[in-house]
Amino acid sequence: MTPPDRPKRCCPKCQAASYLFRARKTVEEAEGKYVDTKYRCRSCSHQWWDRVAVPPEMPQADDAAGPCASHPLLPTCGDDRPRT
Ligand SMILES: [Zn+2]
Repeated sequence: MTPPDRPKRCCPKCQAASYLFRARKTVEEAEGKYVDTKYRCRSCSHQWWDRVAVPPEMPQADDAAGPCASHPLLPTCGDDRPRT
């Protein structure tokens, strides 16, 4: 079992899969929001930024009779119960 929030990365310089987390910051560009994460390679000490786009937050639907919140493009689907 591997945690789903640890995608496989490696050093862009030497391809070593061993690196250290250095910093994280959120940047807002005209075209969207991004999270920049800084890593440092344990093998060659190369440091790099990894940029991941943050999807825009869905506007909350106040109208209970409106389209399904889980499927905004569909009419009410009746399948918005939590699956836990
Ligand atoms: Zn490296």
